[in-house]
Amino acid sequence: MEGEKKPMRVLVTGGRGLVGKAIEHVVKQEGRSREGEEWTFIGSKDADLTNWAETRAIFEKHQPTHVIHLAAMVGGLFMHLRRNLEFWRKNQAINDNVLQMAHEFDVVKVVSCLSTCIFPDKTTYPIDETMIHNGPPHESNSGYAYAKRMVDVYNRACFQQYGRRYTSVIPTNIFGPHDNFSIEDGHVLPALIHKTYKAKRDGTALEVWGSGRGLRQFIFSVDLARLCVWVLREYDEIEPIILSVGEEDEMSIKDVVDAIVKAFDFTGPVIYDTSKSDGQMKKTASNGKLRRYLPNFTFTPFHTAVKETCDWLAANYDIARK
Ligand code: NAP
Ligand code: GDP
Repeated sequence: MEGEKKPMRVLVTGGRGLVGKAIEHVVKQEGRSREGEEWTFIGSKDADLTNWAETRAIFEKHQPTHVIHLAAMVGGLFMHLRRNLEFWRKNQAINDNVLQMAHEFDVVKVVSCLSTCIFPDKTTYPIDETMIHNGPPHESNSGYAYAKRMVDVYNRACFQQYGRRYTSVIPTNIFGPHDNFSIEDGHVLPALIHKTYKAKRDGTALEVWGSGRGLRQFIFSVDLARLCVWVLREYDEIEPIILSVGEEDEMSIKDVVDAIVKAFDFTGPVIYDTSKSDGQMKKTASNGKLRRYLPNFTFTPFHTAVKETCDWLAANYDIARK
């Protein structure tokens, strides 16, 4: 944090995933690390954070002063529909282990990652940070949503009981290099990028799931990474902050399909399978709070970021998660 004398020792859980890799990029390549700081990025091979003893061992080893907590069981709508219970149990265990260990190891600050899909399903729009606990989440991802909501419960209670300043960020749908491009399990953007890559390569149709009418806001992982580093250094509230592009940048899944088709210059047929779920039709979030803190933050234009992500998958197809 600003003004602290001792340099931070930052542990990034989930550090080998989409967001972790982007934070590593901005810290190492964009010179956002300060002199004397140590940044450690860990994945599930370093410690299974559902396991208390392994979580303790990793805190013992790295003795972090600050934690960016990204580790989670993560996936798109269709993975949630198949594995709702696992999303609840694994994420609840990971979050409880990491937050409680941070407290026991006297970590100064934890920034945990929530998601806009944890907000109530029946709500008014735009959604803001005060509305997390106002009603049940959409049933498609309720296990994940409740596990994430409990992070906010933990943070508030830990402040109340111990004065800890642990906080959380709420990103919208994220995408970028190093995403999980799995067609069965991935989020919409990486899954459709992979499908389009294969359709172009194999000369087949691109199959979109659902009607294409659902609305989403997307944030490029590198933009999110810059904002996460800002939150770690500057943001001093316990209450979460939504990290998102504006409401005016919300788009339909059909818009997303068109952007990917353009990026790949795909000329084959595009089919919408309306027998598949649309999930939550929209979850329009306000970035008003972020804008009050950072009125001049510039988001990467959507088409630029989509093109970069498509190019990344094409160049790294053999090693990409898929
Ligand atoms: P990701 O690419 O799937 O990365 C998840 C990371 O968590 C990986 O590094 C993974 O380790 C690690 N992990 C999973 N289970 C673990 C376990 N049991 N023990 C230790 N580490 C474990 O996910 P992401 O998209 O970067 O997500 C980062 C955060 O953003 C998550 O908290 C997610 O809920 C949140 N979020 C994501 C989105 C999105 O659209 N992607 C949207 C909103 C919020 P390995 O690398 O070893 O597998
Ligand atoms: P969500 O934003 O949490 O609901 O999760 P996703 O990132 O998986 O986005 C789901 C939305 O994208 C739904 O409206 C789906 O119908 C639509 N969609 C269209 N094609 C696909 C696809 O191939 N994979 C996924 N995951 N979603 C798709």
